[in-house]
Amino acid sequence: MGAHIYADNAATTKLDTVAFETMTPWLLEEYGNASQLYAFARKPKKALVEARATIAECIGALPDEIYFTSGGTESDNWVIKSSAFSDPDKRAMVTTAFEHHAVLHSCAAIERLGYPVVYMWPTAEGYITPDILESYITDSTRLISVMFANNEIGSIQPIRELSETAHAHGALFHTDAVQAVGHVKINAHELGIDFLSASAHKFNGPKGIGFLYIRKGVDLKPYADGGAQESAHRAGTENIASIVGMAAALKGNCDTLETSQKHLVNLEKLLLARLDDAAIAYKHNGGKYRLPGLLSLSFPGKDGEAILHRMDLMGICISTGSACNSKDTEISHVLKAIKLDEKYAMGTIRISLGKYNTEDDVERIVQGLKKILL
Ligand code: PLP
Repeated sequence: MGAHIYADNAATTKLDTVAFETMTPWLLEEYGNASQLYAFARKPKKALVEARATIAECIGALPDEIYFTSGGTESDNWVIKSSAFSDPDKRAMVTTAFEHHAVLHSCAAIERLGYPVVYMWPTAEGYITPDILESYITDSTRLISVMFANNEIGSIQPIRELSETAHAHGALFHTDAVQAVGHVKINAHELGIDFLSASAHKFNGPKGIGFLYIRKGVDLKPYADGGAQESAHRAGTENIASIVGMAAALKGNCDTLETSQKHLVNLEKLLLARLDDAAIAYKHNGGKYRLPGLLSLSFPGKDGEAILHRMDLMGICISTGSACNSKDTEISHVLKAIKLDEKYAMGTIRISLGKYNTEDDVERIVQGLKKILL
């Protein structure tokens, strides 16, 4: 067996060395609490200001629109739960049937408290169009949440148009952009969105840290109550090391975005061409507008989980769907939402290539698939 190949970058990514090196002084030397008044707190306080500004610049936002959280899950919970209780006259929420469980389970929690949620069904390619959204909005819709890019099939949603549609009906718009931030160009102001969730470990930053973008002027009550950190909106002593690591990773990815995208598109093309050369039958899910490097492939009549395990024995990490439900042999909620025929759905794998993958990795992935599928 050759070197291990990691092709599950939608589940998590390798920490960039530069991000790691940026983090260590804040763990070992400059460990002061940024909220304190003495001189030892000044450096961490400044680091927070700088990291916030870097992140804001990377996503076309203002520094005071960025709120640090523990990751995508917390950001999604915050928006969905806090906004539910904000307006007694506008209680309804609209989301999609193929969101990540961080959104779906937050929605289920507010539904249990009597706040109605409706779930939009995407097209067979995995898109929510403005027309679909129009057909679900009512006068009592308070919040609409549509993910930027789907974590299983990679389809990228028309966020600007969806946000305009939401605003035309007086609703706020949130996007879970956990899979997109650091991988595709995002300008929050140009998109006109109200909230955006992001997570550092998906863009080569550390785990357990992320942020929520809240458009200036939009009122969102705190989710975690306690101290006055994050403009009294997210209590808890700031995780300076992870925050600076996240900012370094995001800047690194944004500075090299086009090069990485080209590299990933080339790897994708190579992989698909090799499968075609081998006359392996597959369906490529997710339509035309997709995250570079994320391939959801369905092999009719095959077993996706068995493919995953056999690839694992060859030292290759792939997924059968989202990492969060990879223990589950059931068809994932995403594949159900796009109404993928069962014959294809059961044989679906997700190969998510990252910037560190090489052509050699792709050749070995294809060799592995050939051994299993031919
Ligand atoms: N949203 C999406 C689309 C994701 O893919 C994930 C992680 O898989 C999350 C939210 C959760 O993010 P985190 O792991 O930072 O809590």
